[in-house]
Amino acid sequence: MTTLGHLINGSRVAGEGRTQDIFNPSTGEVGGQVSLASKATVEDAIAAAQAAYPAWRDTPPAKRARVMFNFKQLLEQNADEIARLIGQEHGKIVHDAKGELQRGIENVEYACGVPELLKGEHSKNTGPGIDSWSEFQPLGVVAGITPFNFPAMVPLWMYPMAIACGNTFVLKPSERDPTSALYIAELALEAGLPAGVLNVVNGDKEAVDTLLDDDRVKAVSFVGSTPIAETIYQRASANGKRCQALGGAKNHAIVMPDADMDNVVNSLNGAAFGSSGERCMALSVAVAVGDETADALIGKMQTQMKTLKVGPFHDAENDFGPVITKAHQEKVCGYIDSAEQQGANIVVDGRGAQVAGHEHGFYVGGTLIDRVTPDMTCYLEEIFGPVLLVVRVGTMEEAMRLIDDHEYGNGTCIYTRDGEAARYFSDHIQVGMVGINVPLPVPVSYHSFGGWKRSLFGDLAAYGPDAVRFYTKRKTVTQRWPSAGVREGAQFSFPS
Ligand code: NAD
Repeated sequence: MTTLGHLINGSRVAGEGRTQDIFNPSTGEVGGQVSLASKATVEDAIAAAQAAYPAWRDTPPAKRARVMFNFKQLLEQNADEIARLIGQEHGKIVHDAKGELQRGIENVEYACGVPELLKGEHSKNTGPGIDSWSEFQPLGVVAGITPFNFPAMVPLWMYPMAIACGNTFVLKPSERDPTSALYIAELALEAGLPAGVLNVVNGDKEAVDTLLDDDRVKAVSFVGSTPIAETIYQRASANGKRCQALGGAKNHAIVMPDADMDNVVNSLNGAAFGSSGERCMALSVAVAVGDETADALIGKMQTQMKTLKVGPFHDAENDFGPVITKAHQEKVCGYIDSAEQQGANIVVDGRGAQVAGHEHGFYVGGTLIDRVTPDMTCYLEEIFGPVLLVVRVGTMEEAMRLIDDHEYGNGTCIYTRDGEAARYFSDHIQVGMVGINVPLPVPVSYHSFGGWKRSLFGDLAAYGPDAVRFYTKRKTVTQRWPSAGVREGAQFSFPS
């Protein structure tokens, strides 16, 4: 059994000290171990990034972009192997893993345009013989800390743009499924990144705290759960670093009485249960406007859910796979227990799901819970499993109030045939990413991804145009080449 180490200064480095098991959630077996980096190992990675920075900063953006073009090709050529690695450690079905990779590749494509994105702003004759421009300079060493649920895509949200902008990078992937991130980083080196520009350290809190406290790290991008995102944001900010920390979610879909119910049911099935609900944009709450709407929704969902197939990642016939760990399986089932105890109606029960030949896998079947109320634990907290809650309300205003009152504000959507209602909804709802008859409104790579409220701490969202701003500092230069100017003598007032 192998122990996964780190990637520092262009080479694999064997870990020393503490390790953690990596599971194959489809079978429940341990597939290997990951080394948990000590403070000293993380400091080696920061030092490598710091040493590589001056030359990389001065590398022309067009040359940095060429590395990204090569990187994109290598990602495509190795897509099957990457999908296998994702599936093996995360559990998501191979075609879903390929979809995740494709979203990541789109961020590499965006980074290929970095010469255009860094062009800056120029004004001629801002005064007599004076020109001004604003340019966007890299920050130095930046760090990324990523969650288990998109082990390939979320790192690719971060370092392609950070590096294309001229920074050097230290990535700390999730210790629960770290292999694909390390494999992909090696492809980035093969694409032409000089040693030290991209480093990967595996680890846990000790590694993260080292990145947060080291003065050489100028910015931190974090994606994970809200309690951790909040502490990361606070600690990084207190240490004078720029920080964006994306957190958890509870995404609601309003189902209006005039919605096309077949479309709703198809959409909700995929958006609630795809990837076992382990997506920060998973649709976890359907808010049905009117009892008739709710009854129709429940009836059709029940029928559709009979065909849901849960099973191991490598079987493309399955709709979704296991959840990430045994502890998480128990946590998800605990939320279903609590819903039952607090008076909700378990319409389809995924507890105790069994997959023949994979009895020890961490499976939870698709679960549908009706008559959920806003005071229930299952409603208040992020479940992060294949569980869809139905809340019944009387009006669209009531549905919107529910969404606005929730602590999270990542994604939401509305199903309706009424354009006026949809426009009002998208205009007023207090959520960062909104769908209209679209269940997972994940922005494409040339927009940016970010929730509101306690789903994002910081001012700039992930990837797209916000990433250019996050990974650069604006510098404004005002220039005059003296001819007559300096010979006029000192000026003590602002010229009017
Ligand atoms: P997590 O918060 O447990 O872990 C995320 C990262 O933080 C990991 O790298 C982990 O090693 C590190 N970490 C964990 N505990 C830490 C601690 N005490 N101190 C320092 N570092 C720590 O999240 P997860 O379970 O891996 O991922 C699932 C969560 O991520 C869900 O809440 C999901 O909604 C969220 N998520 C959000 C987005 C988004 O864009 N908003 C995207 C994907 C996932």
